[in-house]
Amino acid sequence: MMLRIGQGFDIHRLESGEGLTLGGLWIPCDFRVIAHSDGDVVLHAVMDAMLGALALGDIGALFPDTDPRYQGADSAALTRIVRDRCCHQGYVVGNLDLTILCERPKISPYRDAMREVIAQVLEIAVDRISVKATTCEQLGAIGRREGLAVQATVLMLAHA
Ligand SMILES: [Zn+2]
Repeated sequence: MMLRIGQGFDIHRLESGEGLTLGGLWIPCDFRVIAHSDGDVVLHAVMDAMLGALALGDIGALFPDTDPRYQGADSAALTRIVRDRCCHQGYVVGNLDLTILCERPKISPYRDAMREVIAQVLEIAVDRISVKATTCEQLGAIGRREGLAVQATVLMLAHA
């Protein structure tokens, strides 16, 4: 198989705070993510999409939150581990498409910087990475700013 597709989803609760890390990028705002790790919802969804494409399980199995090694873990470092594992299986990310669902913070000012950081972590060209964002029109938990969710779709390519 030369092509494999994967999807990832992650959601975390928000509380009052000084900011959050999304896609490896620090975004100052009035919220923080409640999480065992650094709570990078974007990279969590990306890792699950990559692992899913290759049927390698999920980040919960790979980096259990009961393991103290992953307390406050840097998700960019974990994503590099996943990238290396995929590479070992013979695959690289062909392209990645992300949708961030949140009312706040506003993502558009950070979109291109986030794409650059993710491109560096995955060691691929930035034009293979798409970051989109939508609000939930004030509907449901995300609409009430209780949480932030990310959907990721990735195409993995067999490298020559
Ligand atoms: Zn997560």
